[in-house]
Amino acid sequence: MAFVTRFAPSPTGPLHLGHAYSAMLAYDMAVAEGGTFLLRIEDIDQSRCRPEWEAQIYDDLQWLGLSWPQPVLRQSQRQAVYAAALDDLWARHCLFLCTCNRRDILQALSAPQEGVAAAVGPDGPVYPGTCRDQQTRFAHQPRPDGVLRLHMDQITAAHAAQQGSSGTFSFQEHGSGPLGETGAIRFDGQDLCDHIGDIAVCRRDMATSYHLSVVLDDAEQGVTDVVRGQDLFEATKIHVLLQRLMGLPTPIYHHHRLIRDDQGKRLAKRDDARALSKYRAEGATPADIRRMVGL
Ligand code: GLU
Ligand code: ZN
Repeated sequence: MAFVTRFAPSPTGPLHLGHAYSAMLAYDMAVAEGGTFLLRIEDIDQSRCRPEWEAQIYDDLQWLGLSWPQPVLRQSQRQAVYAAALDDLWARHCLFLCTCNRRDILQALSAPQEGVAAAVGPDGPVYPGTCRDQQTRFAHQPRPDGVLRLHMDQITAAHAAQQGSSGTFSFQEHGSGPLGETGAIRFDGQDLCDHIGDIAVCRRDMATSYHLSVVLDDAEQGVTDVVRGQDLFEATKIHVLLQRLMGLPTPIYHHHRLIRDDQGKRLAKRDDARALSKYRAEGATPADIRRMVGL
């Protein structure tokens, strides 16, 4: 199968060295494999995305020497696809409506509960389940008054019943997770319930979520290999679950090390000091950037 990978930034700030590393690594792999490198603009959070950041992304990546096929897929144009997937999941009783706000969730979590500390998953504290059992059935979604969450225990129980075993999931890791995890990565329904829980797949004001969109779009674009930072390793379990649920293929994952600042802290969008454009303005060349990130 031809190698297809992608770089999928959100235009919510300047690209920094960590993005440059991720994009160049994916691009180099595509070139080495005689495959395709795609660019996808992940702009579902319209309150944080800006056209000027998107323009800067194109400019920075071209300056680095990368190229990609046109037109570029932009998630803001795919709302109908996300809505249809949510409708389908809703119709199959995989989702429930949650009207908790952040404070409700933190309060429920701080209530004494047999002395067990709440687990923290890829999206923050594991949802305490407040709305899960108080469901009235609604005919349609999405509704603007809450978020839609996955019924994790029911979904994983159904998966186990169907598999006739403990209900394991797996994906191939060709890079490594933060603890050096590599090769065939396996996890089961219990892991998902304990460490990830009823995650939101449709957020307020977005009518989708990062997890839902990324999975649908990787499938739509025929992505065979996902190259991205180790910070997303745990989220991959959510993506694999969604792929099973929606009958989509699971790509090979290559999670890579994170580029850190001098204090060892991982770079974030707000670290403007590390913005690529700043190095450019100071006269750095693309070869300098490659050297700085160890490529
Ligand atoms: N838009 C996501 C980010 O910038 C992409 C993550 C991914 O590659 O799946 O973190
Ligand atoms: Zn709730």
